[in-house]
Amino acid sequence: MSGRILVVDDILANRRLLQAKLEARYFEVILASNGPDALVAAAEHAPDVILLDVMMPGMDGYEVCQRLKANPQTAHIPVVMVTALSQQESRLQGLRAGADDFITKPFDDFGLLTRISALLRYHSVAKELRQREASGGPAIFDADIDADAMDRPSRVVVVDESVHRARRLSDYLRRAGHVTASLQDAGDQTEGRGIDVLVLALDQQGFDPLRLCAQFKMGERTRAVAILLICNEINQDKALKALELGASDIIMEPVDREELLARVLTQTRRTRYIEILRRRVDRGIELSVIDPLTGLYNRRHMMSQLSQLMGRSVVDAAPVSIAAFDIDHFKSVNDTHGHEVGDDVLCQFADRLRENVRPMDIVCRQGGEEFLVIMPGIPGDLACMAAERIRCAVAATPFGIGEGKPTLDVTVSAGVATNEGQLTGDPQILLRQADDALYAAKKSGRNRVMSLAA
Ligand SMILES: [Mg+2]
Repeated sequence: MSGRILVVDDILANRRLLQAKLEARYFEVILASNGPDALVAAAEHAPDVILLDVMMPGMDGYEVCQRLKANPQTAHIPVVMVTALSQQESRLQGLRAGADDFITKPFDDFGLLTRISALLRYHSVAKELRQREASGGPAIFDADIDADAMDRPSRVVVVDESVHRARRLSDYLRRAGHVTASLQDAGDQTEGRGIDVLVLALDQQGFDPLRLCAQFKMGERTRAVAILLICNEINQDKALKALELGASDIIMEPVDREELLARVLTQTRRTRYIEILRRRVDRGIELSVIDPLTGLYNRRHMMSQLSQLMGRSVVDAAPVSIAAFDIDHFKSVNDTHGHEVGDDVLCQFADRLRENVRPMDIVCRQGGEEFLVIMPGIPGDLACMAAERIRCAVAATPFGIGEGKPTLDVTVSAGVATNEGQLTGDPQILLRQADDALYAAKKSGRNRVMSLAA
């Protein structure tokens, strides 16, 4: 993975060393020798990762980090704090300042490069989600980005055959307030039950830890769980494979307590941040295509789907049929029983539509009491039969409108239109044909299906 990296260090030799290591791996490197220059470079060059020395005269690394995180233009860039081995405490201080990761001088190449790769991967996923969110229709509220939720105790599973080490690691985690769970809990996504981090020792005899990595990353429910590898000098190759499979981070043996806690914290934040972004993107997509009353697709989605299908129909002459439905005398339902009952009737009609179409059909509410079913690949005669089945399903059983109240006889009229490649890709013509047929059905007595072509 390539990327642009800003290296900030007050000592020339350190800058040169990092530059050489990174350029050897084809990263683009930008250098800054003090805090103020770093802030300018970050805003100007939009690096993918910033390696930030903690000890610098004037503005130190913590302050630079805080300023980067306070500026919306640079807040999303991952910051790696570079600390000396003797500064254990400064790791946590760095994380409190908003840093995303830390590395310790003197660098081991393996740790440095795996960390940068993992951050670049994370950064690109987060960037894509943010872009999708920004382009995804209506604005979404920030209510569920909750700083407390980000730093809630983690739920961690430790998988390690070495009973002694497993107990020690679990102990570290529990004493810091985290919850240790079992592997069985990993698939459980019940609110508050899912896990954040899998701590996986690579030196196992009884099973293949790489297989477990792959299983986690393939599983729908475990994909988002961050995997933190416990690794030593001997199994670095295995660690590289695990990182390729989607593991997020490594920690070298012997495991240092502070480092374990700090890494669990950063991985938990990342997992949760991605999860929140994903949920917001999903909800944004949902908000932009779903009719909130009935849960059917809205007119916007209807038009885009119909345009696509019409376009395809021009190319391969596959038929596309639509059936426009309108509830008969709906205004009198509202006038007689009130809008609440009116809404209830709309929802019940939506249910009957859903129950009586094929899985590939697209059921939409156009607005008011008007609905449309798009039937890809279905010629006109079959579309009329499908619409007739829906009409019968509505007329056959009266609608309940609340306990103790009489049921309501509801009927619908429908107009069917089909494109078998004869029309251009413009859905408006097809929609007008269906509307004309629907109007004819209304005129000739309602509770019927008509198609002008037939
Ligand atoms: Mg320094």
